[in-house]
Amino acid sequence: MNEKSKQPEASKGIPAKETSAKESATEIRYVNLYESEEKVYTRRITGFFQRLRRFTSAPLMLGFLLMPWLVIDGRPAMLFDLPARQFNILWMTFSPQDGVYLAWLLIIAAFLLFTVTVMVGRVWCGFTCPQTVWTQMYMWAEFLCEGDRNKRIKLDSQKWSMEKFLRKAAKHAIWIAIALVTAITFVGYFTPIRELAINFFTFQVDLTAAFWVLFFTGATYGNAGFMREQVCKYMCPYARFQSVMYDHDTLAVWYNKERGEKRGPRKIGEDYKAQGLGDCIDCSWCVQVCPVNIDIREGLQAECIDCGLCIDACDSVMEKMNYPLGLISFTTEDAVAKKKVNIMRPRVLGYAAVLLVMVGFFVYSLATRMPLLVEVMRDRGTQMYRVNEDKVLNVYTLKIENLDRKTHVYDVSVHGDFNYEIQGYKAPPILEGEILTVPVRVAVKRSELKGEKNTVSFKVVARENPEIVISHNTTFIGPSK
Ligand code: SF4
Ligand code: SF4
Repeated sequence: MNEKSKQPEASKGIPAKETSAKESATEIRYVNLYESEEKVYTRRITGFFQRLRRFTSAPLMLGFLLMPWLVIDGRPAMLFDLPARQFNILWMTFSPQDGVYLAWLLIIAAFLLFTVTVMVGRVWCGFTCPQTVWTQMYMWAEFLCEGDRNKRIKLDSQKWSMEKFLRKAAKHAIWIAIALVTAITFVGYFTPIRELAINFFTFQVDLTAAFWVLFFTGATYGNAGFMREQVCKYMCPYARFQSVMYDHDTLAVWYNKERGEKRGPRKIGEDYKAQGLGDCIDCSWCVQVCPVNIDIREGLQAECIDCGLCIDACDSVMEKMNYPLGLISFTTEDAVAKKKVNIMRPRVLGYAAVLLVMVGFFVYSLATRMPLLVEVMRDRGTQMYRVNEDKVLNVYTLKIENLDRKTHVYDVSVHGDFNYEIQGYKAPPILEGEILTVPVRVAVKRSELKGEKNTVSFKVVARENPEIVISHNTTFIGPSK
C-alpha cells in the first residue's frame, strides 16, 4: 500500500528564515510539525454508494436509538444496571460472573473484523462505523443550513452578518439536538431511559446521570462536528493495523491509473486520446467529496475509509463526458494489475473457519447456560471441623444467585462417599437477580469417615424447574483417625 506523503506545506507558523546558498542548493524545507489541519469542505454527492451508506447505517442507527425503549417480559430489552449488577440483554439476564460471554463476544467481533477486512477492506469504516454515520448526519445539517461546498467556503470567508449568524446558529442547534438525543440514548443503556428522559428535561435527574449525558453530548458534538476525519486518521486504532491485513486480493477503492493518465481538462466530445490524455479530466471532484480529504489518484492510502463517494463523484463525471464508468471502482490490486484474483485464499478460509468455530461455541454455551450460580466456601474462622457426640461437622458459607427471570426456591442436598447430611438450611424463595448467602453445616457419622480429607458435593436444584441444577464439589475435613 502506498502511504500518502504527509509532509505539510512550508511552515506558516515559523518566521521565514534566510537560507544560505548551501541550504538552497540542497533544497532544505522548514516544516511546522504542529500545523493545524485545514478545514475540509466536502461536496455533496448522490450515487449508488451514497444510497448504500444510507441503507447500511439507517438500521444500525435505528437499532441503537430504539433498543433501550424496547420492553421484553416487562423489563428493558437492553439495560446494563451496574449498581444492581444485572445486565438485561433481550430475554436473558447476566451477572458480572458471566463476563466470559462478553470476552467471547469481543474476540468474535475482532475476528469478524479481521475476516471482513481481509475480504472487503475498510467497509466497516465507510458504511457502518458510528463516527462515519454521525458525521454523515452532521454534514446533512451543515448542507441544510449553510448549503453545499462553495456556499460554505464563501460563508466562512464572509464577515459576520445576521444571515451568517442565523445559519451558523441553526446548524449548531441541530448538532446539539442530535448530540443530546445520542447521549440520552447511550446513558439509557445504563439507567432506565424513560425516567432518565423525563427527569433530564424536568431538571430532576441525579448528578451522575446528568454528568454522563452532558459528557456524551459534548463528545458527540466534538467528534462528529469538528474532529470528523481526524478521528479516523489519528485516533482510531483500526486504521493503524488494517494496512497489515490487506493483501493483493482485498477489495478496496482503486483509481485505474492506466486508463486515467495522463489527466487533463478537455471539452465533451473532444478527441482527447489524440492529445495523449487519459480518461481523467482532472476535475478534482473525487477529492472534493472525500470525507478524509485525500486524493485516491495517488494510490491506496491508509486514510481511505472505503466509503465509495469518490466512485459516485467520478461516475457522475464519466457519465457527463460519455466515457465508460468505473475509472475509480471497488476492485483489487491484482485485478488492477490484470492478474488472477483469488477470492477464496488460505488467509480468508483460515479466518472464516476460526470465526465459525468460535460462533458455534458461543451459541452452544449461551443456549446451555444455567441461570443459577452456586458458591460454597469453607468457614475459615473456626476449627477445621467440630465433633459433636458421634458426628463430625464442617461449616460452610453457601451462596446461591438466581440468574433466572423468575423467583425460585432452591433445594440443597449433599452427597459423597458417606451418608452426609445438611443442617441449618431452610429454602426461602429467592427473587430474580437476588443472592442468598447462608451458613450451613454438613455432618457425617465419625465411624463412617475413612480419612482426614474427603470430598462432599452440594447439589442445588430449583424446586419449580429441576432442569435448573448445579453440583459443586468441596472438601470435608475430619479427624486423622
Ligand atoms: S473525479 Fe474522476 S475525472 Fe475527476 S479528477 Fe477524479 S478521477 Fe479524474
Ligand atoms: S478516497 Fe474515496 S473511498 Fe476513500 S475515503 Fe475518500 S471518498 Fe471515500
